[in-house]
Amino acid sequence: MSAQIIDGKARAKEIKEEVKAEVEQLKEKGVVPGLSVILVGNDPASQSYVKMKAKDCQEVGMNSEVIRMEESTSQEELLAEVERLNQDPNVHGILVQLPIPDHIDEKVIINAIAPSKDVDGFHPINVGKMMIGEEDAYLPCTPRGVVDLIKLTGTDLKGKHAVVVGRSNIVGKPASMLLLKEHATVTVCHSKTTNLKEITKQADILVAAVGRAHMITEDFVSPGTVVIDVGTNRIESGKLVGDVDYEKVSQIASHITPVPGGVGPMTRAMLLMNTLDAAKTIHGIK
Ligand code: NDP
Repeated sequence: MSAQIIDGKARAKEIKEEVKAEVEQLKEKGVVPGLSVILVGNDPASQSYVKMKAKDCQEVGMNSEVIRMEESTSQEELLAEVERLNQDPNVHGILVQLPIPDHIDEKVIINAIAPSKDVDGFHPINVGKMMIGEEDAYLPCTPRGVVDLIKLTGTDLKGKHAVVVGRSNIVGKPASMLLLKEHATVTVCHSKTTNLKEITKQADILVAAVGRAHMITEDFVSPGTVVIDVGTNRIESGKLVGDVDYEKVSQIASHITPVPGGVGPMTRAMLLMNTLDAAKTIHGIK
């Protein structure tokens, strides 16, 4: 039996339509949501991500600006730019595209972003709020997209065993927190996990966020599992593939996200949602 494909691209399009409609309403109240993205250096992947984010904003009627800074930018210069955006009333969302050059301390930069404009949800205040379940936290975009896609399958997460492979601060850890909030029983695995296959085979829901092409093969998955593949890996042929061996695993899973077209578009859609929420909160609009 073949798994049902979870169409992240279609779901993201739906979300964008909803955001667009809300942006139009906000404009009638004199508010145009605005996202500012800072890009330091010339990393080709980052350049293309930033371009896509700006295009997404345009499509839903939001303001967007990309601030390009030299690779040699000092930490002080970057901090000054973040502070300028913190103070700018027309900017509702601030995102510093990661990675930033090694001579700048990522933590210092993330901590400098006003939590109320931290649409990536990486600031410790938002991470803490997410952890204790405060409703006004900005949730990180990829994990927020992951949970939305699981719900899209009609799966009730309550009491289900969700296994997350990966424990990064931007994907694995926050995904596990959000799944816990949905009352799943969550197991988080990582590179030091000794019996990975045994654990993943117990999953009702399996989230792969590792960054290793096709690592999750059919022997990691039991029949009926909902499989969410966060991984984006460029293989030698130039093709983009996930962490999951899609061809094989889709013969076993109940639902599966493709790569591309699964989690990726959802991450972008959730950034728009967070920017919209930021604009509404800053202007006191419910
Ligand atoms: P990181 O490299 O920060 O984290 C990878 C995690 O995988 C770590 O926790 C690591 O464990 C774990 N890991 C590595 N090898 C193994 C292994 N053999 N067995 C089990 N666990 C392992 O990556 P990210 O979380 O940032 O990203 C993960 C993937 O998701 C990447 O492919 C990235 O490109 C993609 N991604 C996709 C997004 C999207 O929008 N689609 C957004 C963000 C990321 P340990 O902690 O022990 O080192």
